[in-house]
Amino acid sequence: MEKQINFKPIRESYLPYGRQWIDDEDINAVVEVLKGDYLTTGPYISKFEQEIAQYVGAKYAVAFSNGTAALHGACYAAGIEEGDEVITTPMTFAASANCVLYQGGVPVFADINEKTYNIDPNEIERKITNKTKAIIPVDFTGQPVHLERIMEIAQKHNLVVIEDAAHALAASYKGRKIGSISDMTMFSFHPVKHITSGEGGIITTNNKEFYEKLLQFRSHGITREKDQLMEYHGPWYYEMQFLGYNYRMTDIQAALGISQLKKLDKFVQLRRKYVQIYNGAFEEMDEINTPHQHHDGESSWHLYIIRLNLDKLTGSRKEIFEALQQQNIGVNVHYIPVHFQPYYRQLGYKKGICPIAEKLYEEIITLPLFPAMSEEDVYDVIQAVKRTINYYKK
Ligand SMILES: *Cc1c(COP(=O)(O)O)cnc(C)c1O
Repeated sequence: MEKQINFKPIRESYLPYGRQWIDDEDINAVVEVLKGDYLTTGPYISKFEQEIAQYVGAKYAVAFSNGTAALHGACYAAGIEEGDEVITTPMTFAASANCVLYQGGVPVFADINEKTYNIDPNEIERKITNKTKAIIPVDFTGQPVHLERIMEIAQKHNLVVIEDAAHALAASYKGRKIGSISDMTMFSFHPVKHITSGEGGIITTNNKEFYEKLLQFRSHGITREKDQLMEYHGPWYYEMQFLGYNYRMTDIQAALGISQLKKLDKFVQLRRKYVQIYNGAFEEMDEINTPHQHHDGESSWHLYIIRLNLDKLTGSRKEIFEALQQQNIGVNVHYIPVHFQPYYRQLGYKKGICPIAEKLYEEIITLPLFPAMSEEDVYDVIQAVKRTINYYKK
């Protein structure tokens, strides 16, 4: 029997683990679009794409209706087809692997590095076969993966690198912004991410061929570009040349994204400041491991995850999680390893294939972290964590 303790809420309102920050400028930007001529596929889309490309230092950007659609587009552009293997991490949201399945490909999970929690390049190498076509590394929590090694491995084996940087807008690697380095990089604009467009996603790339494929894939496989047409019947003429989708972003979303982008650096500064406060408060506690940062990358801190040292605690992760919830702290767990999901189990993936990620899953709790929270909120979380850990400490 588990002990049933009632922790009194530390605060009156529930503090979520993440949420958007919308101000009047954002609201006005959206209203302007609603009053204008184009609700979708108008001028705001290309403006948003140009601004993101410029921000990250990439040549091209293609906006999508959401980050998952963007990953699907990238898998298409990379040429993933039936039976092709793509290596990714299990410590991610299902979308990083699902996009491979959409194309008939086979996700192959490579284990993570014990310290950074990011995919381990040595494990990537171990999983390469003659069917491997691409790698989808994930900049987990906003910390860049070991891009130098991964790009090297990709070049050696002729693989495409599709970086899932849903957590890593504004992060940098060896002084370069994430989004300018790998073959294609995906960012998500879901409300919990760094900036939001409601739903939304984007691929940045320096490769013109990928860029053109992404554009066409986003809109049914249709093109109107004269030099790409097989025939030409007149000004109305277009061709659907392959099976694409309607994955377009609306101008309403793009206008919100443009307005949000202006605040990105401020948002990230706040995230970094709160992380320092958390790290300082938990540093001395042996029962908790704070996140480890690799010196090559500068994280943009999408998530703040503590790892419990269960040997030093009498309570389980579940008990500690529930105790924090009772105190109105919106904790979470990122992530349940993708191959644990019933759908993946049914495809034949087994528990035990990525032991480091699987052990990590047993020991982690995500604490609230978002720019719209106040410093007082941060101290509420710290107080609740300390109270809980002290209670369960051996
Ligand atoms: C949010 C997220 C996605 C998917 O983005 P959506 O815009 O929600 O479709 C993919 N990968 C990771 C790691 C994410 O966190």
